[in-house]
Amino acid sequence: MVSRVIPVETFDLVIFGGTGDLARRKILPGLFRRFRSGQMPVGSRIIGAARSEMDTAAYRSMIAEAVAEFGGDEKNDTKSLDAFVAALDYVAIDAKGDGGWVELAGLVRSDVVQAFYFSVAPSLFGDLAERLHTHKIANAQSRIVVEKPFGRDLETARALNKTLAAHFDESQIYRIDHYLGKETVQNLMAVRFGNMLFEPLWNNHYVDHIQITVAETVGVGGRGGYYDKSGAMRDMVQNHLMQLLCLIAMEPPNQYGPDEVRDEKLKVIRALQPVAPHHIVRGQYDAGPDGPSYREDAENPRSFTESFIAMKCEIANWRWAGVPFYLRTGKRMKARSSEITVYFKDLGHTIFEGDVARHRNILSIRLQPNEGMDLQVTIKEPGPGGMRLIDVPLDMTFADALGPDAEEVPDAYERLIMDVIRGNQTLFMRGDEVEAAWGWTDPLINGWEARNDVPKHYEAGSAGPEDALAMLHRDGRKWRELKA
Ligand code: NAD
Repeated sequence: MVSRVIPVETFDLVIFGGTGDLARRKILPGLFRRFRSGQMPVGSRIIGAARSEMDTAAYRSMIAEAVAEFGGDEKNDTKSLDAFVAALDYVAIDAKGDGGWVELAGLVRSDVVQAFYFSVAPSLFGDLAERLHTHKIANAQSRIVVEKPFGRDLETARALNKTLAAHFDESQIYRIDHYLGKETVQNLMAVRFGNMLFEPLWNNHYVDHIQITVAETVGVGGRGGYYDKSGAMRDMVQNHLMQLLCLIAMEPPNQYGPDEVRDEKLKVIRALQPVAPHHIVRGQYDAGPDGPSYREDAENPRSFTESFIAMKCEIANWRWAGVPFYLRTGKRMKARSSEITVYFKDLGHTIFEGDVARHRNILSIRLQPNEGMDLQVTIKEPGPGGMRLIDVPLDMTFADALGPDAEEVPDAYERLIMDVIRGNQTLFMRGDEVEAAWGWTDPLINGWEARNDVPKHYEAGSAGPEDALAMLHRDGRKWRELKA
């Protein structure tokens, strides 16, 4: 495959929080990869802006070290790394005061694409947005990028939207959900809307149920204090899992454009039904050989926050009525695996001996690890012995399909940042989508808080609490096995 990297326009990218964990671990190593692949035009600048007092030389060393620590093999390309860090500047800035703003105004050019990445706590968004205007740095074409968490409920999300809207138009605001930047997630749309094969079957006539799993093996250690105020529902479901659910369930947009796609996603969220308490299982991991329990990690011996959640959801529309969507996500689980699985219905009748229910088509879309898809199909078992059927996967692991070119595939952050520079909002959440998502999750969270629901325990390294397995068992179904 020939490299198809399309350069973007020259840009100035200001990273507020440019010394923080996210900037050092993801944003800057990602930008270095784009730089190496020739996507960052000569003359573009990246300006780190954060609280620490340091000069540009010290910042360049910090970022070179971050790339060495968090980058892939490309970090060994020291010549490119030197050229990349030469495109970095640094300004010590106070989001809440006046320090650094005049210097920043002197660095940001008005005749190139301007993007401001708010990689700081959401409590600073308003201060940054306001000062970008009072210091006449931002203009009507500037873009701002904001990170999760986007609020912790509908009220706070509305307040954040209002704060940003006071200074920027919705068309300038890029709310990142890095799940949307994953190659497979976009492939999900390509598969659905680029093939004759799937879309005609994508409805309650042919689909039995859909599972969305995001399982992690790590616990919350290190950020237990933050996580304990959030939990799996706020941290994972309200954003990542709901975005995946929207893409799998939405109607075909009339074209692949930002508002067309986001309008359809919004309709899915609005069609989601309230979930009854017996269709929600919340869990907390126990201590295991590899680490402490959730409560020890969270340093809160009385915590009721969930590190696992499984839910049975329904979308009340013509396409999906009667098709359950089972969602689950958790920490300290058996395997790290993010997957969407579409279970098609059984054949109504079989001409072969045996059980009609034994063989069914299953399409699985893997986000991690080994991004790719496979489709389980039934074929005749090769060889003599009569007509015996077996299920085999038609496997398309992207790394195998693309060969060495898989290296070229940008990771989620890289792709999304380049989309910001291109001015393409398709893979970013719109304000009304985020509010609608909170509008669905708020009553569920308020419900279990009001009932003082105690999360179920689960063994670290397992598939979650027994009750989550039982929830599907009652429906005559089972969770897809978690495989690393
Ligand atoms: P961090 O604490 O490591 O870094 C915070 C940054 O903000 C630092 O650069 C600091 O100098 C700067 N800062 C703090 N107060 C400031 C002020 N008054 N004026 C100017 N700069 C100030 O945080 P992080 O982990 O990098 O997270 C940044 C944002 O991204 C947060 O909103 C977080 O929720 C979100 N996020 C982080 C991750 C991650 O993996 N770290 C993942 C998803 C979302």
